[in-house]
Order: sequence, then C-alpha cells, then structure tokens
Amino acid sequence: MDFRLSDEERAFQEAVRRFGDRVLRPHERSLDAAGSIPHEVLGPMAELGLLAMPVPEEYGGMGASAVLTELAAEEIGRGDFSMATAVFFLLEAGWGAILARHGSEETKREVLPKVTAGEAFLGVATTEPTGGSDLASMRTTSRREGEQFLLRGEKAFVSGVEEAKRLGGGHLTLSKDGKGGFNFLYVPTRTEGIDTQRFENMGRMGISTGALSYHDAKVPARHLVGAEGRGFEVAMEGFSNARTFVSAACVGAAERALETGTRYIRERTVFGQPLGKFEAIQFELADLYTQVEAVKWQCRRAAWLLDQPSPKEDRAHRSEVNLAVASVKLAAPQIAFECVKRVMMWFGAAGYTKDVGLELGLRGITSYLVGAEGGLNIMRIILGRELLGKEFVPYK
Ligand SMILES: Cc1cc2nc3c(=O)[nH]c(=O)nc-3n(C[C@H](O)[C@H](O)[C@H](O)COP(=O)(O)OP(=O)(O)OC[C@H]3O[C@@H](n4cnc5c(N)ncnc54)[C@H](O)[C@@H]3O)c2cc1C
Repeated sequence: MDFRLSDEERAFQEAVRRFGDRVLRPHERSLDAAGSIPHEVLGPMAELGLLAMPVPEEYGGMGASAVLTELAAEEIGRGDFSMATAVFFLLEAGWGAILARHGSEETKREVLPKVTAGEAFLGVATTEPTGGSDLASMRTTSRREGEQFLLRGEKAFVSGVEEAKRLGGGHLTLSKDGKGGFNFLYVPTRTEGIDTQRFENMGRMGISTGALSYHDAKVPARHLVGAEGRGFEVAMEGFSNARTFVSAACVGAAERALETGTRYIRERTVFGQPLGKFEAIQFELADLYTQVEAVKWQCRRAAWLLDQPSPKEDRAHRSEVNLAVASVKLAAPQIAFECVKRVMMWFGAAGYTKDVGLELGLRGITSYLVGAEGGLNIMRIILGRELLGKEFVPYK
C-alpha cells in the first residue's frame, strides 16, 4: 500500500492549489454577491482541464481518474470557500462521467465538448417539490412517442438551472416511464415546454438553485442515458461520484478553516500569551485535525474504489463502494461545518464579521448538511442497509 501521490498527481494538485489561491480566492466574495461564477473563473478552469475532467479526451475532457478529480475537488473547496465553484465543478465531473459512460454517441458529441470548454453547463435533476430522499415516489413522467419522450412534471432545488439556461446545457433528469421503470434523460434546459424558476438560497450563491417544470417537453430518444427503463441504477452510480467529490470539497473547506484558525491562534494574544498556548484551544485543533485527516483519507479511498473495474454482478464491490461513499458523505460536511464553527469561536467577535470570511464557508457547507446530494439520514440508511442487510431498511 502506497499513500504517496505520484509526481504527476502532486504536480496537478499544486497547479489546482495555485489556481485556487490566484483565481478563486480573489473572486469568492464577488461571485457570492453577484449570484454567478464569472468567465474570469470558468475560463481558467477550462484551460486547466477542470471542467468535467473525467470525460475522455475524445469528448474534450482529460479522462481523469476519480482520484485525480477528488484531489481537484479538495483544492477547489479550499479555494472558493463559498462552495459555489466546487458545486459547479463536481456536478459536471460526476454527471459528465456518467453521460460519457452511458450516453449515446450523438449526445456525447453534442454535449460534452461544450461542457468541457465552459460553453454549456451539465447537472442533475432528481428532486421534486414533494421530496428528494424518496426518489421512488417521484411524479415526473417520460412517455415514449416514437423517437422522442414527452416529459411532464416538476423538479425542485436543482443546481445550475440558470446557468444551463444562460450558457446552454441541461440536466440528467430522472423520471418514471409509466411501466414500473425509470428513464434517465439528458434534458437541454432551452427545450420548448420547460419553465425555470430561481430560488433564493442562504449560501453558495454563485451557482443558482431552482425549479424546472416540464409541460410535455419533447426530448429526443438519443438523449437516453443508460437503457430505457433502467435509469434508476445509472442515477445511483452518478450519486456515488458526486457524493465523493462533494465530500472532497468539504475536506478542502475544512482544511482552509483550520489553516485560518491556526494562523490566528498563533498570533492572537489573550491573558499575556498566544491563544494557541491554552490547551483548551490547542486540544480542539488536535481533535479537528485528526477528524479531517481521517475523512480525507476515507474520501481518497472512496475515489480509488470508484476507479476500480466493477462488473455489475460484483455485489461485494458495490457494497464496499456504498459503505465508503455514504460514510464520507455523512462525515465530511459535518466535520467541515464543525471546523468553521469552532474557528469562528477562536476568532471571537471578529469571527462574526464578513471581513474574516468564515460565514461564507458556513453558509456554503450548510447546503451539504441539509440535503444536497442526499441528506445525512439517507447516508445513514445506506450504511444501515449495507451493515445489517436489506431487510433492515426502515421503509418499503
Ligand atoms: C443547495 C442545494 C442544491 C441542490 N441541488 C440539487 C440538484 O442539483 N439536483 C437535485 O436533483 N437535487 C438537488 N438538491 C436537493 C437534494 O438532493 C435534496 O435536498 C435531498 O435529496 C433531500 O430531499 P428533500 O430536501 O426533499 O428532503 P426530504 O426528502 O423531504 O427529507 C427531509 C429530511 O428528512 C430526512 N429523511 C428523509 N427520509 C428519512 C428517513 N427514512 N428516515 C429518517 N430521516 C429521513 C432527510 O435526510 C432530510 O433531512 C439540492 C439541495 C440543496 C439544499
């Protein structure tokens, strides 16, 4: 077992960290205020190959492994503390990989080169106004009519609704096929019969969240992702990618919070000595560091597992992936939130100001506590199912 990164991986990690320091940090406050990620950020991301980076080179990507993508997600979460750029990055990486693996050749050629060039956005739409955890109860339907599907229903709390409308692009959208199965379709947002609405969030403002309503919107059959009626499994595969990269972004944000806090407690003098000399503070730092390191390596292991060849019938491998991914998605947002909260306390009143900037991270990370990419209890349900067996799933 070798935990060291290869020379190439380390060089790439350093390049993304430089991008984070030079491009993301100077923009994080303004993109949060503006409600969108400017070209000054997306342009250099495209140049570095960071947009939908697992997509194979023939479709404009860099064919990156999940491990390399995980490393990039950490750096982007560290660079833009608001988490908006991380969300943009990880949605395109996670779902771009799925479109590349399960999409039709025509759709891949039509969509992926634009996504990797920053000329279109790609996200996912599964959540509905009636709920996001219980996907099997969704109401949106896709009825086949010859060489097209008629999509009817509504999605809610979907990231990148405005970006897909403004830049072009769309969402991999899960719907019921009316025959007991699910279709997963790439749905361009500019399709006739689709309305959008932007919600006002409390954080990660640089990327929109909103609703999509479909009024018998016509989606070409070539946009099917995976086999007809088998979309649920494909969507679950995508969630394993996205949840791993979300967790990596949370690790990066947690490390940034601790770096900020460590600098401060070295310098801030109270009762005649640096704050960091008091064990009450020093021990908190030690505990938080230990937890962040643990989740970071679990996250890298989850990514490594995603890179391993996995024959569909290999139940043991799928179970290992589910355990690794659900446990990092359960732990990473909580530890990141805890790091920011504790560091805020170390700063005292200054921690409550926008100047110090900790509130930016607190607002962004909260999205992963409340539900984005699956709520914490859903991760616990997955873990319970894998540890105890299907018969212990507490719902039908
Ligand atoms: C900022 C943001 C961005 C998002 N982006 C997207 C996106 O791009 N695409 C998309 O499709 N969705 C997106 N979502 C939605 C997200 O996937 C859902 O929030 C999530 O799946 C939970 O669904 P819900 O919010 O409807 O909560 P519900 O499903 O109503 O659940 C409410 C609460 O109950 C808990 N819960 C649910 N079932 C159980 C149970 N059986 N036992 C115990 N507790 C339970 C949940 O964990 C949650 O805390 C986003 C959400 C946010 C906040």
